[in-house]
Parts: sequence; structure tokens; C-alpha cells
Amino acid sequence: MPELPEVESLRRDLTPTIVGRSIQRVDIGLPKLFRPVPGLSAADLCGRAVERLRRRAKILILDLSDGLALLIHLKLAGQLVHVSADGQELAHGGHPVPRWGFPLPHKATHVIFRFDDGSTLYLTDIRQFCRLWLMHADEVDGFLEEQGFGPEPLTEDFSVPGFRARLRRRSIPIKTALLDQGVVGGIGNIYADESLWEARIHPRRTANSLTLPEIKRLHAAVRSVLAYALREGVATVLQGKALPERDFPYAHGRGGGPCFRGCGATMEKEWVGGRGTHWCPRCQKLPRARPVAAGTPSSG
Ligand SMILES: [Zn+2]
Repeated sequence: MPELPEVESLRRDLTPTIVGRSIQRVDIGLPKLFRPVPGLSAADLCGRAVERLRRRAKILILDLSDGLALLIHLKLAGQLVHVSADGQELAHGGHPVPRWGFPLPHKATHVIFRFDDGSTLYLTDIRQFCRLWLMHADEVDGFLEEQGFGPEPLTEDFSVPGFRARLRRRSIPIKTALLDQGVVGGIGNIYADESLWEARIHPRRTANSLTLPEIKRLHAAVRSVLAYALREGVATVLQGKALPERDFPYAHGRGGGPCFRGCGATMEKEWVGGRGTHWCPRCQKLPRARPVAAGTPSSG
């Protein structure tokens, strides 16, 4: 699923290719994906210039001229590809299926934007979960607030005390807590596994059982894993498997293979909270349950 690094990379790559371009035509093949606020429609996109691209958690925000904004959430499998008038790929990002360079439009291409320079932006989604919201610029902050996103992990807003306070309120596996966008914005299945492996914390630990040193390790790991993905290139995982020819991701998609830390253990894979989860049984141990003291009633 496109997570923070994928959406942020897409924002960076698309900024030079579509900012300043004006939308001439929009074709929406699957109306359920498009959610304009009352009073607006796809026709209102025509003639508007793209002024800026922003991101909040996994949402890409296109600020348009004359006070409109288009918000795009790629969800599980959305991808965007911008192609020039002469058919050259200018930028792409999101889910890697269909593969980059695949002829577009594809049967799963649901939205097509045509720009004044003859270039085209294709939105393809094999799962049909992605969403586009069209609204007035002054409605964006309220909309984002309603989503209840936690802090952006790569900013100062993501602090150890705040992270600790949010984990303390959750008696769910730490893996599941990391996927909760209210705990930290933008993390999905791949980077949650990477962060836990990096911090040497078992994904089934209960979020509110983590000690302060563990929370500090995890906080640092979340930042370093996301920063690495942005700097070195996002993780590619196809059908739940990491690519053998690439080192990254180190943990996610590596079940059955050796731990990259060289500890000698074989990576495990299990479902945690309904999501395929990968960890090292040696580097990420579950602490033994505390023995019940003699004489303590077993139930009360
Ligand atoms: Zn290991």
C-alpha cells in the first residue's frame, strides 16, 4: 500500500511536472471514487491551474487556482502516472501494479486528467479503494482534522512524550497501534514491520506495555526507516514478498529468509491484526509472562 514515503516521493516527483499546468479536461470512469462537496462537480476542475502539492499523512493535496483543492488518497493500490504529450513518462508513484511503463490507460485506469501542455495524469487502481475529494481551499484543514491524523513522523510534532501518551491508551498489539493513523500519520504495513524490526520489538507486544527505553527506540526507528525510504528509494513489495535483489525492506516480505542483522535466525511471518507481519524471533523476543505470585487469586 502506498505509505508516507511513497506519497511523499510522488509529491516531490510530480511537483516539477504538474505545478503551473492547468487542467483542461477530466474523465472519471468510476464515479464512486470522486467525492466533491455539495455544489462542486468534476466540471469545476476544468480551467484550474495546479498551484502547489502538499501531503498530510497518506493524502496528496493539490491546491488549485481560484480557491479549490483536490485531495487524493491512493489507499491500498492507487497509482498516478504523468505522461507528456509525446508519450514520455514524466513522473509516477503509488502502488507498483501494473508495473511502471505499462501502456495507459489500462482497464483499471479510473480517472484521467488532461493538462494544457498536452500531458496526461492517469489514476489507476486495481482495487478501486482510492478516493478523490474536491473541496474549497478553506475546507481542507477541517477535513484533515476530521480524519484524526496523529503527528507527521518526520516533523518536530512527533515527540517521544506524545507518542508515549498515545501508546499508553492502547491495549492492542504494537503493530496494530502503529497502523492507527491517530497514533502517527502515514505508516502502513511495510514501514510498521521495518520500524519494529529496527527497534527490536515484537509486533505482538501490547502497545501500553512498552517501556520508555523501548518507546524511545521505536520513535527513533520510525523516523530513521521513513527517512531512509525517502532518501534511498521506497520499499518495493509485490504480493507480500520483498524483492530478493534488493536489501530494503529488511524485514517486511522476508518471512522464511535469514534475518538481515545476521543473527542467524529465520524471519517469521504471521497475521497480526489481520495484516501479514514479519519479524525476527531472535532480535524481537516476546518477554516471558510474569509468573503469578503464590496465593494470588486467579480471578476476582
Ligand atoms: Zn535477527
